[in-house]
Amino acid sequence: MLSVEEALERILANIKALNSVRVPLSDALGLVLAEDVVAQENIPPFANSAMDGFALLSKDSKLRDGRPPRLRVTGGIAAGYVAATPVVEGTAMRIMTGAPVPVGADAIIQIELTRYDGPESAWVEVLEEVTPGNNIRPAGEDIRQGQMVLRRGIEIGAWEIGILATLGWATVPVIRRPRVAILGTGDEVIDVGEALRPGKIRNSNSYLLEALVRQAGAEAQRLGVARDTVESLRAKFSEAIQYDLLLTSGGVSVGEFDLVKKIMQEQGDVDFWRINMRPGKPVAFGSIGETPLLGLPGNPVSTAVTFALFGRPLIRKMLGHTRLSRPQIDVIVEDGVSERAQRRHYVRAHVAWQDGRFVAHTTGNQGSHVMTSLLNANAFVIVPEGGVEVKAGDTAKALMLDWPEV
Ligand code: AMP
Ligand code: MG
Repeated sequence: MLSVEEALERILANIKALNSVRVPLSDALGLVLAEDVVAQENIPPFANSAMDGFALLSKDSKLRDGRPPRLRVTGGIAAGYVAATPVVEGTAMRIMTGAPVPVGADAIIQIELTRYDGPESAWVEVLEEVTPGNNIRPAGEDIRQGQMVLRRGIEIGAWEIGILATLGWATVPVIRRPRVAILGTGDEVIDVGEALRPGKIRNSNSYLLEALVRQAGAEAQRLGVARDTVESLRAKFSEAIQYDLLLTSGGVSVGEFDLVKKIMQEQGDVDFWRINMRPGKPVAFGSIGETPLLGLPGNPVSTAVTFALFGRPLIRKMLGHTRLSRPQIDVIVEDGVSERAQRRHYVRAHVAWQDGRFVAHTTGNQGSHVMTSLLNANAFVIVPEGGVEVKAGDTAKALMLDWPEV
């Protein structure tokens, strides 16, 4: 049996980042930048005022005969406009935050440190001496023209979107989102809109996977459900080759109708693995033609857990990310897992910060068919393989499902 780490390594060894495309800036959130971003302009583009106040020559702010100097006001500059005349000795101009500093002025005094006679005042008294550069934000103070600002390979978050906007990148080169086809399998599986009939269950996996695929940053397309016949699977698989990845659920076990492997062998390549984990021992990985195929087990909890461990890192690698797996942290297991697992057990749990430590509560019946064990779970507590016991009060590792990848 393979360890989880070995299985993941083998999968990732077969996956490359996809090609890059340009997308509108506001669609770039969460994607990986595909080119270096070098500033073509200074930011700020021009020296501007950090305050509402008056632009003046700093030497004019010195006391005169022990009294505040009085300067003639020659006009005003609002943000977005450029002064038509320079500031000369003995004069000042009203200026708003963000407005360009007029020629001649070398300082801004904020309005609170002046006395004047209303907005139309023809004079201003300067109540405090200012030094050159006071309240001026120089051109290029934030970003210099020619500066490398963002390196290719980084994930574009909100901060980066702001930087790209200020630099004028209306469209952004990014690694494109994978298009992922999702296929259910099984004669017992009917669609969600259908009424239950004897022996049938609704297709929860395809919808669960669709949501997980989207959360991982890829585009998802459900291809419906293949019957447990080679013909039905062949037909569905032939649709799948136009996608970047095919995810299946069910049909990879050792039962009589577990045909996914068979069709993979026929149409591509298959590695079938028993992974030393629970839930979700059987996982198939290979390809249909050139399209990678990850065959997940059919039990919904197994599908969810194996997607988290293998599917999501795979999609992230296609997206060009370098941080692929969720972090593991030490937690105190509050209620007993109380077992000696032969296979590594990923126990669904809720981890919370309590009194200065992370505490895990498991989510009840851990059967691989018990979907409600996923509700409220933000972590998998890991009971190591090889008969290690984890009981109430013990410290164990937990894989944090709602923490960013490391
Ligand atoms: P299999 O691996 O095909 O033998 O399926 C294992 C278990 O998962 C069986 O109980 C199936 O009925 C169930 N199962 C398979 N596919 C789905 C699905 N799409 N939605 C919900 N349960 C499924
Ligand atoms: Mg089946």
